[in-house]
Amino acid sequence: EEAAEVEEMNAQSLSALRAFKLQALLLLLALAGILIFSAWYYARTLTRPLLAIGKAASELATGNLKHKIELASNDEIGQLAKNIQAMAHSLDKTYTDLERDASTDPVTGLANRRLLPSVFRKEASRARRHGETIAVVMLDIDHFKQVNDTHGHAIGDEVLKHVAEICKGALREHDHCFRYGGEEFVLLLAATDAFESFQAIERLRKQIADTPCIQDANSISITASFGMSQYPRNNEELEQLLDAADGALYQAKRHGRNRVVAYDPDVTLSFPTEPDSV
Ligand code: GH3
Ligand code: MG
Ligand code: MG
Repeated sequence: EEAAEVEEMNAQSLSALRAFKLQALLLLLALAGILIFSAWYYARTLTRPLLAIGKAASELATGNLKHKIELASNDEIGQLAKNIQAMAHSLDKTYTDLERDASTDPVTGLANRRLLPSVFRKEASRARRHGETIAVVMLDIDHFKQVNDTHGHAIGDEVLKHVAEICKGALREHDHCFRYGGEEFVLLLAATDAFESFQAIERLRKQIADTPCIQDANSISITASFGMSQYPRNNEELEQLLDAADGALYQAKRHGRNRVVAYDPDVTLSFPTEPDSV
């Protein structure tokens, strides 16, 4: 009877032990689950977002203001990422505005000479591909000092705007006009040949001469002189082409102004147009 009692107790403790083992195992599994979940949660909410922000910071530091932070969360870290993104966006906009202002002439709204080399490079490679030519044209308003002396500097500015508007109106696709200096403009004109370029400049010269600038009661007649060189015939380098156009412009002034002169490597060919009107 005693033996049976002992056996009964053994069986009880054995099953208690089994139950304990099972509970311990479940607890362990639960702990492991919590651990895995925490690791995943930590990675998702902290590590990854922080890595994304760290990457963004280094992109911004190297000047890539267009970098996008890939982050969907809306918690504090998500907010921080959004703020950094907004800051980068505003810096990028300021930079673009500054760049535009620095390459725009405030009086005429034309591009200034800063943009000339890059625009020339682009158009030159296009012209080369199409077997076309580019006329590099220097335009200088005749006796502009007299306009200032007679009507004042402010009206002088209006005359500059007036000439710029006529030039803009004459531009076709792939043509460009720059305010080069005081009363000097540079035009890049795409054309199939020198003759076509020359005709286009001649039309512009006529238009300027035929369109007085009306200021209050004054009608101010203006003329301009033009020097032209040709890519790639005269040279392939912008600097040399500008020098050549400037030389031709000098000849245009010397031969009486209000005319177009094309540079020629051997002789500077003068295309006589109208006599100096001033
Ligand atoms: P030419 O026919 O030989 O070109 O004579 P010009 O009087 O046009 O040339 P000059 O170089 O003697 O004078 C240019 C004048 O342009 C002098 C300068 O005061 C004026 N000028 C330069 N920039 C500006 C500007 O932005 N606004 C105004 N109103 N005048 C300017
Ligand atoms: Mg000048
Ligand atoms: Mg002048």
